[in-house]
Parts: sequence; C-alpha cells; structure tokens
Amino acid sequence: MTKRILVVEDNQKNRVLLRDLLMYHGYEVIEAENGEEGIQKARENHPDLILMDLQLPVVDGFAAAKVLKDTPETADIKIIAVTSFAMKGDREKVIESKFDDYLSKPIDTRQLPRVVKSLLGDDQ
Ligand SMILES: [Mg+2]
Repeated sequence: MTKRILVVEDNQKNRVLLRDLLMYHGYEVIEAENGEEGIQKARENHPDLILMDLQLPVVDGFAAAKVLKDTPETADIKIIAVTSFAMKGDREKVIESKFDDYLSKPIDTRQLPRVVKSLLGDDQ
C-alpha cells in the first residue's frame, strides 16, 4: 500500500521540492501551508509521516507537533522537523521536543529519502 506523507511548509518552492522528491520515491503526498492546516489535514488523512517546517504562519511547527503528539488519534504519526535553524535556540528546542527526527535546510535530496524510509521501515 502506498504510504502517505503530509508536507507542512509555507514556502511554495520548498513545498514543491519536497513533494516532487517524495513522489519520486513512491509516496503519496498531502500538503498544508501553515500549522493549523497541518493539524487539520493530519486529523483528516492520518498520514504515515509528517514533514513539519518549524517557521510557519498561524501556528508554528513546534506548537502543531505538540498538538498532534498530545492527541491520542494522531499521537502515533511520526513527525520530522524541517528547519533552517536560523532562529537561535531552535536546535535545542527540536531536541527537547517530541519530533521523531529532524532535517535541516537546504534539503539534502539524498539524505531526505534515507531518513524518511528509515522512519517508515521502508529501508529493508
Ligand atoms: Mg517556513
């Protein structure tokens, strides 16, 4: 069965890059442009994995991930933080948060599928 990944990213260029890369690797992709829409689409579609940008409008990536991890029906969805670590202290906050992994921008097109496949158990 095709696994579904939700990409929560407000920058259109980054969102398209992530979508194309994940589709190339055989995943179905759902997109959201801010944290609130991300929470809503995660609840509606229950994806296998979420790629969550941290600097997002409306609700930021930290807050959105916390809501999802604290809600029983979405708590099991794996979440990868995608960050430029431009904001001071973000790295520490990511490590202290409940993210399953993190990737830094600019996106490494070889590292991303490795991390995704490993988290989803598709690397066997
Ligand atoms: Mg952003």
